Amino acid sequence: MSAAKGASLRSLFESAKQSPFRTCQWPSGDPQDLETFSYCGAPTLPPHSYCAAHVKQAYRDPDEEREAARAAA
Ligand SMILES: [Zn+2]
Repeated sequence: MSAAKGASLRSLFESAKQSPFRTCQWPSGDPQDLETFSYCGAPTLPPHSYCAAHVKQAYRDPDEEREAARAAA
């Protein structure tokens, strides 16, 4: 019983080592305005500090980014 507890504590420590955050740190709203500013808060996708959707957004391929900009224009 205590061994199982030790193992789960160790896995918690391992995940903490991968990312300091357990919730998505993607900012939303205006950083100058604390009334509207907040973080996404979704569970992170280790080892990143963002959720799956925001990791995708943060590490988007530059070519894909250009395509998206052209499509939006
Ligand atoms: Zn997010």
